[in-house]
Amino acid sequence: MITVLKEGVTKEQREKLIQWFESHGLSVHISEGRYQTVLGLVGDTTRIDDGLVESLEIVQSVKRISEPFKSANRKFHPDDTIVDIEGLKIGGGHFQFIAGPCSVESRDQILDIAKSVKAAGANLLRGGAFKPRTSPYDFQGMRAEGLELLLEAKKETGMPIVTEIMNSNHLPLFEDVDVIQIGARNMQNFELLKDVGKTRKPVLLKRGLANTLKELLMSAEYIMSEGNENIILCERGIRTFETYTRNTLDLSAVPVLKELTHLPIVVDPSHATGHASLVPSMALAAAAAGADGLMIEVHNDPQNALCDGAQSLKPEEFAKVCKNVNAVLGAIRQFQEDE
Ligand code: PEP
Ligand code: MN
Repeated sequence: MITVLKEGVTKEQREKLIQWFESHGLSVHISEGRYQTVLGLVGDTTRIDDGLVESLEIVQSVKRISEPFKSANRKFHPDDTIVDIEGLKIGGGHFQFIAGPCSVESRDQILDIAKSVKAAGANLLRGGAFKPRTSPYDFQGMRAEGLELLLEAKKETGMPIVTEIMNSNHLPLFEDVDVIQIGARNMQNFELLKDVGKTRKPVLLKRGLANTLKELLMSAEYIMSEGNENIILCERGIRTFETYTRNTLDLSAVPVLKELTHLPIVVDPSHATGHASLVPSMALAAAAAGADGLMIEVHNDPQNALCDGAQSLKPEEFAKVCKNVNAVLGAIRQFQEDE
């Protein structure tokens, strides 16, 4: 249930109403927009009389929300959420490029790639230290040592880092990580979601291989229900009957999620397509569809990459993608100004 307050309501009037809701066992999520304040009520609202609340002098309207996701719901929070990563903003018109290798493989490899993606236009560095591999015999990542190397690359380049967590026990190791990634395979690892929800670190939550958008939002809700609202959603393709591409990039997820939620959305065209040749066009399409950022795998030597070489761009290819995506973003801005 949401309660939209009238313009000009004082803090005292608002507090009084909030206390009244809280005395009915509800928790109240306040969203202060430029013109409107929206109170989102979480809990059992069945005993609240909508008519009574609506009749209050300070209340403009009351709406019941039927979707099971509340905190992530745009109805609760009409303005876009802007996630702040060490001063770098994503969402609400702020677009960011996240780039780097699938996995951290060595000190030289990550430092070299970090410098070249930064020069090409990346704002954040990605790299897996703990890798969720289908086969236990494949490279599992450099683990804690990989995290150390990412932090070294951050120090060298100044780029915040994004890296995947697979186990809550590893959270202490992620203390200096800027964005914690929850991978597709862990999107519904609810205990892990609750644990990252207890931190206040930005979380990049990837859509599961066969999960609906509603399920993705419910996973975001798990994190938010623990108090962490710094969530960036990521569309990375879903499994369909098509085998030419590694997954099927569901680009319609971007406008659908924009309608349903206020959280920023990035697109990962690398895992979505599985082929480096398909990444540039899908990156442009994602920007045109309204994504708030891109996550792209880049390797200095894709042929010899320990993981996902086939879908990794070379730094010079990534530079071209950044240039073209920026042109698309510029054209969209122009288009919006002209409207
Ligand atoms: C990754 O980004 O490194 C990754 C493993 O992606 P996903 O979880 O989307 O498969
Ligand atoms: Mn990968």
